Amino acid sequence: MATERTLSIIKPDATRRNLTGKINARFEDAGLRIVAQKRVLLTQAEAEGFYAVHRERSFFPELVAFMTSGPVVVQVLEGENAVLKNRDIMGATNPANAAPGTIRADFAESIEANSVHGSDSLENATNEVAYFFAQTEIVG
Ligand code: UDP
Repeated sequence: MATERTLSIIKPDATRRNLTGKINARFEDAGLRIVAQKRVLLTQAEAEGFYAVHRERSFFPELVAFMTSGPVVVQVLEGENAVLKNRDIMGATNPANAAPGTIRADFAESIEANSVHGSDSLENATNEVAYFFAQTEIVG
């Protein structure tokens, strides 16, 4: 298995409830290393650009409003099989369908306010990491 990097975002519902540390512990306990991290307020343009693939979906305007409603923590996670491993730790998009013990099962408020984002493929991970971080900001 290869060492991979994936983009994670701790979403505004989670930063609002002071859950950054608890969520980071899930990653570290699973063997993922946080090799870059910053707390930012996304602009509307940044959120729209990040979720451009969902531009035509009915939930897009609300999603952009949610993602700009408070601070997010954007981070790069590194480890063996990091992309899929993080998706497993996160759980399903809809917390009602998320497996017990996953971040979304334990913390998400709704299908929209679901506490975390994680890249869903290695190709998307590469692009999403580059969207938020310069190479010099990632310290492995
Ligand atoms: N989302 C939403 N309503 C939906 C589906 C998705 O508000 O019906 C939001 C939710 O925050 C989700 C994000 O849009 O995490 C991106 O959706 P995607 O299907 O890519 O899910 P993910 O990869 O985050 O599990």
